[in-house]
Amino acid sequence: MPRYDYECETCGKRFEARHSFDAPLPSCPEGHATVHRLITTAPRVLRGMAAPTSRNASKEELRSKWAEETPKLRQKMVEKLGEETVSKYGGTLNATYDD
Ligand SMILES: [Zn+2]
Repeated sequence: MPRYDYECETCGKRFEARHSFDAPLPSCPEGHATVHRLITTAPRVLRGMAAPTSRNASKEELRSKWAEETPKLRQKMVEKLGEETVSKYGGTLNATYDD
């Protein structure tokens, strides 16, 4: 069963829980009922990787990095979460670099 990150809307606590997409949302470990799932997407990872050089990186460099890295990230996500999940929730993983 896949594992997801959640954030409590009452106290802001972040936690991990395993459950299927169809199951109801888990509740906060502190007992609050309202939580939302945090979707981890590629751009956050990509920005992290590009951050140290972003001041000097041209748009073309960023675009080529995106073109090179995104299929790899997407493949990892597919291996971990399944094609259907990535297609449905991957969002920007399925998109091309557009700044
Ligand atoms: Zn809470």
